Amino acid sequence: MSGGDKLDFEVRPNPQPVAAAERAALMANPGFGRVFTDHMVTIRYAEGKGWYDARVEARAPIPMDPASAVLHYAQEIFEGLKAYSAADGSVTMFRPDANAARFNESARRMAMPELPEAVFIDSLRHLVEIDRAWLPTSEEASLYLRPFMFASEVFLGVRPSNEYLYAVIGSPVGSYFARGGVQPVDVWVSPTYTRAAPGGTGEAKFGGNYASSLVAQAEAIEHGCDQVVFLDAVQRRYVDELGGMNIFFVYDDGTLVTPPLGGTILRGITRESLITLVRQSGGTVLEQPVAFDDWRADAASGRLREVFACGTAAVITPIGQVRYPDGEFTIADGNPGEVTTRLRQTLVDIQRGRVEDTNGWIHRIG
Ligand SMILES: *Cc1c(COP(=O)(O)O)cnc(C)c1O
Repeated sequence: MSGGDKLDFEVRPNPQPVAAAERAALMANPGFGRVFTDHMVTIRYAEGKGWYDARVEARAPIPMDPASAVLHYAQEIFEGLKAYSAADGSVTMFRPDANAARFNESARRMAMPELPEAVFIDSLRHLVEIDRAWLPTSEEASLYLRPFMFASEVFLGVRPSNEYLYAVIGSPVGSYFARGGVQPVDVWVSPTYTRAAPGGTGEAKFGGNYASSLVAQAEAIEHGCDQVVFLDAVQRRYVDELGGMNIFFVYDDGTLVTPPLGGTILRGITRESLITLVRQSGGTVLEQPVAFDDWRADAASGRLREVFACGTAAVITPIGQVRYPDGEFTIADGNPGEVTTRLRQTLVDIQRGRVEDTNGWIHRIG
């Protein structure tokens, strides 16, 4: 069928799933993005035909012609969200509708077809249901879901592909950072590289954005830091975000500030959820530019109390030290701050179903 909002998925269970004992061993310490489940979802798209051939099948290599468009022109987008085992034993996802909407925003920017939101959410549900045994139950762990889509037409030439493959894979994950949960990370403010320019692709969850950030991340690691912070591409003055996380600043009067969206910052669902939660509890969040010079001065004066990064993978991660070519500074005493810790707990409690979800963010799978 084409163009509709529903697709029937053909379910072909993996005839050779990983044995239970081996699965348990893999899940004992999964790290991040190294262990994968038994299945994947695939859906094909062809111009004129629409979405078709939706399947849940054994996770396996995807055969590719060497002239597949994605290999040359990089038309590829993705999403990332988690399935959680909730306090009452059910399985939940956090705001999958927001991921579906962002996926389609990314698709539009990259001249790719949109996937109906209901089909996107169905694809996630199918994978979680068939791979339920891969859902970790411990507090720090979850099943990371990675929907993605790429240009699969076989041709050379710079134009949008007429064929695409959408797929979802799942990966049981522990803590994103090797050092674990709420340990502060050190960040490097890159003097060399920017992530996104006005009119560019920074707002899309587009593979190329991450390819171009790798050398900046390497620069951060060379300087003893965990993550890179990017400044704006025009003036090299204002903080945009990290390589894969948004950033918040907490001041001594309790106000939170996060850089405004506007084309060069990824519209983080964690970012938006935190803004909502803080405002609902009577707090103030300003979406306004933060100059790097003010970041440094306010850290020195003590007006700036906490800084944290946020995103699905790492939830909320405090930032301890900030390094740049001419020096370094520490945020407060370098330890996780009170606001950071409290917000992280609130968000995780909602995701795990321990506190009431008054915003309709929790999507129960069963
Ligand atoms: C995915 C991502 C984020 C965080 O988005 P969430 O929806 O909160 O996971 C932030 N910045 C970049 C560059 C990202 O790719």
